[in-house]
Amino acid sequence: MKYFSTRDSSNRVSAARAIASGLAPDGGLFVPESVPQLTDSMLAELRKLDYRGRAARIMGMFLDDFTAEELVKYCAAAYSDNFDTPLTAPLNILSDDTAVLELWHGPTCAFKDMALQMLPHLLTASLRKCGEERGVCILVATSGDTGKAALEGFADVDGTKIVVFYPRDGVSDVQKLQMVTQSGDNVLVSAIAGNFDDAQTGVKRIFGDTEFAKELDSRGWFLSSANSINWGRLLPQIVYYVSAYCDLLNAGKIKAGERINFCVPTGNFGNILAGWYAKQMGLPVSRFICASNSNNVLTDFINTGVYNRERPFHCTISPSMDILVSSNLERLLYACCGSDAEVAGYMRSLAESGKYTVSDALRRRIAEDFSAGFCDDDETRAEIADMYAKGYLIDPHTAVAFKVLRDYRERSGDATPTVVVSTASPFKFCDSVLAALGESTGAPGTELIDRLAERTGANPPRPLSNLAGRAVRFTGCIEKEAMRELTSDFLK
Ligand SMILES: *Cc1c(COP(=O)(O)O)cnc(C)c1O
Repeated sequence: MKYFSTRDSSNRVSAARAIASGLAPDGGLFVPESVPQLTDSMLAELRKLDYRGRAARIMGMFLDDFTAEELVKYCAAAYSDNFDTPLTAPLNILSDDTAVLELWHGPTCAFKDMALQMLPHLLTASLRKCGEERGVCILVATSGDTGKAALEGFADVDGTKIVVFYPRDGVSDVQKLQMVTQSGDNVLVSAIAGNFDDAQTGVKRIFGDTEFAKELDSRGWFLSSANSINWGRLLPQIVYYVSAYCDLLNAGKIKAGERINFCVPTGNFGNILAGWYAKQMGLPVSRFICASNSNNVLTDFINTGVYNRERPFHCTISPSMDILVSSNLERLLYACCGSDAEVAGYMRSLAESGKYTVSDALRRRIAEDFSAGFCDDDETRAEIADMYAKGYLIDPHTAVAFKVLRDYRERSGDATPTVVVSTASPFKFCDSVLAALGESTGAPGTELIDRLAERTGANPPRPLSNLAGRAVRFTGCIEKEAMRELTSDFLK
């Protein structure tokens, strides 16, 4: 199966090339030329497998330049005792019509592990298949979760190095500690004096610096990115949607062929889009409910067909969804309208005027599969308290999804069984969760982890309870102008 760019469908490349390149040369995103189909008999087979087995089969359907043996090996490495449950992505059934898919049992306690534990295997294999002899350096600007998940994924992977920049004042105590205590001989972490935008702009500038690329090339290195524009990050996420359906079948909660809904807390549209690809494969899904915080650009888009990033940016208690440009939406637009020229036009309009309006046909097509809603921080805190009172402790991102689902059900009367996708451990955002439960939060992050454990009787995940005792390795904070020099010194 070949892949091509959402902005130019004429140039087709192998899966390995698409993963090795990340972004297409024209600035578009790689998409598969067709979506492989899940038959009833395949689904019946998948039901019998564990998560790794399901992952190897499903990813294999999209990766015909990888052997089954390769994928089985990568899945065994990516989804093993680095997760705190052998189920990898357990489905927690709360009632007859609601279940939660917990995607935070990996080493960094957020859903990005589901893809970033796999990406290094796919990426290094893709580079080999493409005959690449240089080493790859992954450059990341992070507002918290991605940086740590990428560090855990790439630490001590042969032929790779990773550099992570985070804004000095823009991440939580826990997130910062997770990064500055990272182990591995090939990792570098640095704060920058600035906000997330400064970090992001600095990284983009380094990527665009052709002189620097030449210099690194002569030293045997090139730069790449680990964010969700890469097909190698999206593909592993398709797996858990299929896996959740298998688990519901196995639990006897639904019958084969019965349709379900998914409600997904959404930022860059990567997670929910992977679910939509699972539906395109034939998974019986009725609707995807796209849940946003006060940065509700996607709610407006799905409801009106107008994407407008020209709006105030809100810093919320669900910071991993504080995003105004959801890059992966471009893949949905392409898949639904089928015209590279049309997509290129929308993206030009977004770049030039900060907004675009899709055609009526495209808006209606998207509305067939997606509903959308949002909630603010007060509603998020109330939802955490309410769910806790019912016996289930959730983080603020997951709480946004529960609140938006509750509103959706009231509004629509839709009684379809629904899986809520849970994207982070409540302990990762212990300050906001404690506040929602009416507790004080004036203490260092590691103390708050203990306080939340005491208050709720829940056990913190080991990667977080260990943090207090871990040695800090990276104390540096640099000016944003010095990001290139630091990267260069690291690749000497
Ligand atoms: C990244 C992230 C999200 C948003 O996922 P997208 O794929 O960007 O839509 C939601 N919740 C948490 C905890 C995250 O880390």
